[in-house]
Amino acid sequence: MAILTIKDLDFSYHSPQGETKALTDINLTVNEGEFISIVGPSGCGKSTLLSIIAGLTPVAEGLSMNNATIGYMLQRDHLFEWRTIYDNVILGLEIRKLMTEENISRVKTLLGRYGLDTFADKRPSELSGGMRQRAALIRTLALNPDILLLDEPFSALDYQTRLKVSNDIGRIIKEEKKTALLVTHDLSEAISMGNRVVVLSERPGTIRKIINIDFPKSASDKELTPLERRNSPEFQEYFHELWRCFS
Ligand code: ADP
Ligand code: MG
Repeated sequence: MAILTIKDLDFSYHSPQGETKALTDINLTVNEGEFISIVGPSGCGKSTLLSIIAGLTPVAEGLSMNNATIGYMLQRDHLFEWRTIYDNVILGLEIRKLMTEENISRVKTLLGRYGLDTFADKRPSELSGGMRQRAALIRTLALNPDILLLDEPFSALDYQTRLKVSNDIGRIIKEEKKTALLVTHDLSEAISMGNRVVVLSERPGTIRKIINIDFPKSASDKELTPLERRNSPEFQEYFHELWRCFS
């Protein structure tokens, strides 16, 4: 079922210096539970597209979303050092006055399920980069959004950490059955996490290609994790197919 439909979307920024056409002729239907990776050259309008979907950049037409709620996760984790991890992950609930028993219990379950319950009373600086990113995701999940928007959420991490964190985050999003749109400039990451990779052109960004990613299931009939995908023979083929879009 479609959770998000983008139809003939155009977008320009206007300033006293003139008009910057950022996106043109974007058409994309996202189904519930899908994980869409979005890649494209720097400045082609990827962040603009997420901001439009989030409703932070309003558009008159071209976007429809059956009442889906949005969670947004950015490159920096934006955890506050003066709050404990627990107080950080409930921040969104506090601000929106949604501290219901159900929501608090969801946060506690998520902290436990993803290995942060024993760190609930720690400060962000006492956690590794990967744990901080997991905490940031749980803070986003606390509001139980239907769609998660992730704008280069791993780019501040070193390569090793990034592999592990993207694996964890990918798994969590799958387990929580969320729909996700991930912007990344890392082609391997896009393939390892997405079930479709959307390739945008230079600005004004338009969709050049959509690659369907379909890995065989594991021996135990489970979907492969991002790390398992990277180690499977199909990975290189997808990588070459995607690479060809940029050369
Ligand atoms: P990406 O995330 O793909 O790097 P962005 O969506 O951030 O690209 O930006 C797309 C284009 O729009 C860029 O040329 C950028 O300079 C321009 N742009 C972004 N934000 C604004 C703004 N608030 N006002 C004017 N131009 C902007
Ligand atoms: Mg960007």
